[in-house]
Amino acid sequence: DLRNPNEPEFLQAVTEVVEDLIPYVNEHRPDLIDLKILERMVEPERIVSFRVAWTDDQNQIQVNRGYRVQMNSAIGPYKGGLRFAPDVNLSILKFLAFEQVFKNSLTSLPIGGGKGGSDFDPKGKSDMEIMRFCQSFMTELQRHIGSETDVPAGDIGVGGREIGYLFGQYKRLQNNFSGVLTGKGTAWGGSYIRPEATGYGLLYFVQCILDYNNEKIEGKTVCISGAGNVAFYAAEKAIQMGAKVLTLSNSQGAIYDKEGFSLDKLNYLGTLGRDLAKYTKKYPSASYHAKENPWQFACDIALPCATQNEINEADAKRLVKNGCKIVAEGANMPSSAEAIKVYLQAKIHFGPGKAANAGGVAVSGLEMSQNAIGQQWAREKVDHRLKLIMENIHKTCVRYGKEPNGYINYLKGANIGGFIKVAEAMKAQGVV
Ligand code: NDP
Repeated sequence: DLRNPNEPEFLQAVTEVVEDLIPYVNEHRPDLIDLKILERMVEPERIVSFRVAWTDDQNQIQVNRGYRVQMNSAIGPYKGGLRFAPDVNLSILKFLAFEQVFKNSLTSLPIGGGKGGSDFDPKGKSDMEIMRFCQSFMTELQRHIGSETDVPAGDIGVGGREIGYLFGQYKRLQNNFSGVLTGKGTAWGGSYIRPEATGYGLLYFVQCILDYNNEKIEGKTVCISGAGNVAFYAAEKAIQMGAKVLTLSNSQGAIYDKEGFSLDKLNYLGTLGRDLAKYTKKYPSASYHAKENPWQFACDIALPCATQNEINEADAKRLVKNGCKIVAEGANMPSSAEAIKVYLQAKIHFGPGKAANAGGVAVSGLEMSQNAIGQQWAREKVDHRLKLIMENIHKTCVRYGKEPNGYINYLKGANIGGFIKVAEAMKAQGVV
C-alpha cells in the first residue's frame, strides 16, 4: 500500500477486516460505498508523535519516541491502551488502534478507538527510571487527552504502577482529578475487576462458545501463552472453572505442567518474575522449554495471551492436528493470517481478539462510567456486567457470523458486528 509503506502489521489487520466487510457492504449496505466509510475508517483521525527525553539512574540522558494514534471517535472518546516495548512503532500502534475501534464498538459501550505507547523498554529499569520516563511521557501526552477526549489505559509493559505515575503527572499538570486514564488503583478512582477483566472476559467468552455447542469446560485441557496480566488471570479463571491449564510462557520459553496448574502453583509462578524455569525446581511434574512456545502441546483449548503473530501456520496446523477445538485470543492479533486460514478451514471455533479479549476495555468503559458519576461499584456488580457484555459480544458474533452450514465464523461476525455501529455514527455525523 503506497500510503502505508513499511506497515505490515497495520496492513495485516486491515486486510483481515476488509475481506469480510467489502462483500457485506456490497450486498447489504451499498449506501455506505459512496460515503467512503471504509476508506475513512482506515485513516486515523489524528496521530501524534513526540520526543520523550528522561534521565536514567546514571544521570545519562535517554531519548525515546512517544505516540498516540487517535483512530476513530464516531461513537465516543478515543480509548485504548499504551504499550511500552522496544519494538513499538507506528505500524504496530495503527494495527492496534484499528482493531480497537471494532472491539470497543462490540462492547456496546460509547467508546471510540485509539492506541499509543513508546519504544521505551521497561525491562531492567529501576522504579525511579520508570517514574521519570512516565512523567516525561505524560508531560507531552497530557495536552492531547482528557476524560471526554481520549482515555488511555495499560497494555504490554504498562500496568498499575505505570498508570499511577502517568496519572500523578497528568493531575499535577492539569490540576484536574478526572477519569483520564483507566486501570487506576481502586483507592483512587479505579474499578474493581479491571486487572482481571481481559483474562476473565476471555474465559467467559470461551464459556459462551462451549455453551453454544452444549459442551462443558470441566476437564478440558488448556494451553496459555504469556505470563503477564492477561495470561495470569485467564489461567486463574480457567482453573476456577474446572479446566486443566497445562502451559504458560514468556519471551524466553514455556512451562508445561502435565498435572496442570493449581491456583497455588499459579500464584507461585507469579512470584518468579520472568525466571519461569525456576518453577520446575519446586514442581517436578513440569518441564521448561527454552525459546519455545506452547503450541507444540496437545490441548482442547488454546489461549494465546502474549503478543501479535505468536501463532504461525505451522503452529496452527500442529494445534489442529493435536485435537485443539477452540482458539480464543487474549492477545491482539496473535494468530498470523495463515494461521487463521488453518482454523477456518478445519472449522474449529476461533474467537478473534477483538471479540474474545474485549473484556478489558469493557471494564475500562465501566471505570469511566463510575468516574463520571463519582461512584465505585462492588466487585460482584462489575464482574456480572463483564459477563453480560461478553455474552452479548458472543451473540453479535453468532448473528453476523453464522454460515449456512451452521458454523460460526466469529471473525466475520465480530468484524461486521463491530463495524455497523461505527458506520452508522459516521454516516450521521457527515463527511469528517
Ligand atoms: P504484559 O506486559 O502484562 O505481559 C505480556 C506477556 O507476554 C509477558 O509474559 C511477555 O513475556 C509475553 N511476551 C511479550 N512479547 C512476547 C514475545 N515476542 N514472545 C513471547 N512472549 C512475549 O501484557 P498484557 O498481558 O497486558 O498483554 C498481552 C496481550 O494482550 C497483548 O497483545 C495486549 O495487546 C493484549 N491485551 C491486553 C489487554 C489488557 O487489559 N492488558 C486488553 C486486551 C488485549 P516477557 O516478560 O518475557 O516479555
